Amino acid sequence: MKRFYFDHAAATPMDPRVVKAMSPYYFDIFGNPGSIHKFGQEASAAVFKARNKISKLLNCDYREIIFTGSATEANNLAIRGVVKKFKERSKELPRIITSQIEHESILEVCREVEKEGLAEVIYLPVSKEGQVDLKKFKAVLNERTILVSIMYANNEIGSIQLIGKILGIIANYKQERSSSIFPLFHTDAVQAFNYLNCDVKELGVDMMTLSSQKIYGPKGVGFLYVKNFGSIEGEKFISPIIIGGGQEEGLRSGTENVAGIVGMSEAAQISFDLRKKECQRLYGLQSYFLDGLRSIKRSSFVLNGPKIGDCRLPNNINIYFKDKKDLVFKLDFAGFAVSGGSACSARLAKPSHVLKAIGCSDKKASESIRISFGRKTSVREIDRLISCFKEIV
Ligand code: PLP
Repeated sequence: MKRFYFDHAAATPMDPRVVKAMSPYYFDIFGNPGSIHKFGQEASAAVFKARNKISKLLNCDYREIIFTGSATEANNLAIRGVVKKFKERSKELPRIITSQIEHESILEVCREVEKEGLAEVIYLPVSKEGQVDLKKFKAVLNERTILVSIMYANNEIGSIQLIGKILGIIANYKQERSSSIFPLFHTDAVQAFNYLNCDVKELGVDMMTLSSQKIYGPKGVGFLYVKNFGSIEGEKFISPIIIGGGQEEGLRSGTENVAGIVGMSEAAQISFDLRKKECQRLYGLQSYFLDGLRSIKRSSFVLNGPKIGDCRLPNNINIYFKDKKDLVFKLDFAGFAVSGGSACSARLAKPSHVLKAIGCSDKKASESIRISFGRKTSVREIDRLISCFKEIV
């Protein structure tokens, strides 16, 4: 049976150019980048080249890229690292502001630091379209706020946050209080990089998380962009959470995943080069798909989250078909891979926290499905998916 993949928000296939770029680093150039000899020097040069390539795409210094084993680890480092550094200097209870629709790798860390009594966390509500409530955000910013972590684009409903507005509010707040460091701003840009501007200077972020496996690169590698190597006006704002050999500016010990890092840099370059064209193409496919669904007689569905357009990722569809249960399984049986929400929470079989935050009932949240397009998604594939929906619904 021919199978069709519509779950690119969970994982993307590797680009063959990425695999080709990685292969020398498994056999020929296998040294430890920390070693002094030639083998080590070659590996170290490859990591340097990759770091440099990525830094150009983000418009930052190459030393501001801290490679990690995943985006999850980068998110852990952003939250725990900032809290840890703050606690080394102060007995005060710091405040973290985040949103109710963040990925589990932010929400679970926030819940843990709360449980450990290390910080107070405010989980901002969002609108029906999945946008953070800016009025509430303004209202909860206080002098104890050390970190604001709001994702750039959501993995389940594709909502794009108004990062510029959030940063504007933070900048005004800092100016009023003549604060140079806090609050810091971190964004999880895992779902954004393929489609949105990730120039850290233009955005004005202090930290940004990325994952290789969402941009047609290898799994098990990601990074955290850390502004000015983690210090502002000579004062460090982040501590490592994994310690040892002191790699990655001392912020993430452990021998670098050389092949993975090389692969991620190649994947990032390709994604960056394709960004504009892919955005246009996928926005077209989104509308085409929804028109196709609407043309099915007696089909009654609701698009969860933002309308198609500037505030929604071009590859994301999240829909609820009234009284149609087990769609993920039925579609999989017919050869179409879609998902019921984020891959990480699929195992938990709980209604999606994102759909609940935008006002869906438990029933609607558990019966909705996410369809995410990718580079290989074509009109033909979408026609096949629509035909399958016709039979099922
Ligand atoms: N953040 C977002 C928005 C995600 O969608 C994901 C993965 O789905 C992650 C973080 C975690 O990425 P990784 O699996 O690379 O740790």
